[in-house]
Amino acid sequence: KEERRRKLFEINRITARYFYYNLMKNKKAYTYLRKRGLSTDTIKKFGLGYSNPNWDDLLNYLKNKGFSVKDIEEIGLVIERKSKTGYYDRFRDRVMFPIVNTKGNVIGFGGRVLDDSQPKYLNSPDSLIFSKGYNLYGLNIAKKHSRGKKIILVEGYMDVISLYNHGIKCCVASLGTAFTPEQAKLIKRYGNDFFICYDSDTAGLNAADKALDILKNAGVEAKVIILPKGKDPDEFIKEKGKEAFEKLIDEALSYIDYKIYLNKKKFNLDTVEGKIDFTKEIASIIKEANSPIEADVYINKVSRETGISIDAIKKEIYKNQANFK
Ligand code: ATP
Ligand code: MN
Ligand code: MN
Ligand code: MN
Repeated sequence: KEERRRKLFEINRITARYFYYNLMKNKKAYTYLRKRGLSTDTIKKFGLGYSNPNWDDLLNYLKNKGFSVKDIEEIGLVIERKSKTGYYDRFRDRVMFPIVNTKGNVIGFGGRVLDDSQPKYLNSPDSLIFSKGYNLYGLNIAKKHSRGKKIILVEGYMDVISLYNHGIKCCVASLGTAFTPEQAKLIKRYGNDFFICYDSDTAGLNAADKALDILKNAGVEAKVIILPKGKDPDEFIKEKGKEAFEKLIDEALSYIDYKIYLNKKKFNLDTVEGKIDFTKEIASIIKEANSPIEADVYINKVSRETGISIDAIKKEIYKNQANFK
């Protein structure tokens, strides 16, 4: 079985090299990446590539190299036709992102269209050598730059790469799926200062909230970096630069601050009902604070936000607790 895995890694490695070679020959794809602001060094560092438009380009290339179709299919690079009369390439006419694990093996690929056709991204399916929920895109590179310190979790391939391109080299992305407890365990080994910086749309705000809880359950106190409305990290750093992004890192919200931030969006604090619901929601979160002093800081904050008295908030927080004083 280990022999089989080695063979599959080898196919992916040869494929990544082939995609890179295609990219260097394909003006359209290369220009696309350069137009998105990536330097030639960054393109090389992440081993970006291009899959040709033909239906059997990669299939023929790999067959000529002597690899078996069964192995190529196992890692999802080709798909069997419905009629069972042969196979076709999964990735065609896409910019390719090899996904490399911390051991340096290519475990899968992501591929993006060059225009706004759908689906925007395609990923390799899970296989003998690829489990999405157990890996993070970019960790192979981030682990060299985080020096056991900062790691920033972002949504997408382009966010990781674009931030790297601007000198923020410690970013990782969950692979087109929700962040998992296994991924939390994984990054815990490579850093000690964690940040989440998801897109600032509703989906991103809620996904960040979930990731924050998953990290907390894994014993990691992450902070959340807030981007201006409608932006993702790639768009932000391209527009505003590295210093502006570092400022956002410095201003990142702690666990409870982020919960307050989110719930302020959810409830209308101009109404009495809104204030009450908001305060009940936050009270249940403050209950989890690490220390009475920390709890006190947030109680004061909520009181200021809502005009509800500190005493009433405290009663709400500790109402079911035996040690209520
Ligand atoms: P770009 O800047 O290239 O448009 P993005 O990363 O900003 O890409 P998002 O729509 O924010 O695109 O998606 C974030 C991430 O989610 C992507 O990088 C990709 O990993 C994953 N993703 C997005 N769309 C799909 C899809 N249709 N299928 C699978 N994964 C997807
Ligand atoms: Mn998004
Ligand atoms: Mn983007
Ligand atoms: Mn995005």
